[in-house]
Amino acid sequence: MIDWKPQGRAAPKERLVNALSVDVEDWFQVGAFETVIDRGSWDSLPQRVERNSQAVLSLFGRVSVKATFFTLGWVAQRYPALIRRIVEGGHEIASHGWDHRRVFTMTAAEFRADLERARIAIEDACGQSPTGYRAPSFSIDARTPWAHRVLAEEGYAYSSSVAPVKHDHYGWPEAPRFAHRPLADAKLIELPVTTVEIGGRRLAAGGGGFFRLLPYHFSSWAISRVNRDEGRPAVFYFHPWEIDPGQPRVANAPLRSRLRHYSRLAAMEGKLLRLLKAHEWGRTDAVVAAEQVRLA
Ligand SMILES: [Zn+2]
Repeated sequence: MIDWKPQGRAAPKERLVNALSVDVEDWFQVGAFETVIDRGSWDSLPQRVERNSQAVLSLFGRVSVKATFFTLGWVAQRYPALIRRIVEGGHEIASHGWDHRRVFTMTAAEFRADLERARIAIEDACGQSPTGYRAPSFSIDARTPWAHRVLAEEGYAYSSSVAPVKHDHYGWPEAPRFAHRPLADAKLIELPVTTVEIGGRRLAAGGGGFFRLLPYHFSSWAISRVNRDEGRPAVFYFHPWEIDPGQPRVANAPLRSRLRHYSRLAAMEGKLLRLLKAHEWGRTDAVVAAEQVRLA
């Protein structure tokens, strides 16, 4: 196709590309159910991550967007064909740790071992080494001052593991809102999940339950505001189980967790499609590369 541009006129200003990401885990692996579903029972539960992730791949295919799949090593080990389909589709494969243990519950040595185990499972599945990492439940915070050092030493180029906001389950409200180098002597970039500031208050606006539960317009507005008013890319994420209304219900989980997990699942796919069409999206490693240039 010929890319025709009118002579003597500047090309229209390019829109910022935002980071689109999927945290690849099954319905029984989420932090909210950790106290009621034992890790030892995972293999005996109905497995839905492969078909749900395939549905996500199809959705992305319909609108021709590429994204990053932060995948648990546990999932990569059991579904290598899925990992290969992600890579063959032109998406980025990245690490979400081994089995969703939150970073602040581990020692530095345990964290290193968790990263290693996940990396090997991903490499065995697709032959590629992940260069990006997302901590389960955004669990890199003030309690884990060693975490970014370990990631740099393990060869990661970036982390997208910090939620610079106050939340009942996670958050590091004092952390910078945009891409930065957390270590003075390493190139590692931390790309926090998107927040907006309204009247001096910082709100989470990068996806997850917030996107599903709040009106569509809040998230779309927040992304536009970050792009247009602050000139920075947004970082958005969701989970394959969020587009699966037919998943099993965990009856003995706390009511608050159940409300968050099961609300508005059926509307999610349409809402996502709308968001994907309304903004520019790409892989997280591409957004990190652009931010590297800015920080250089
Ligand atoms: Zn997760």
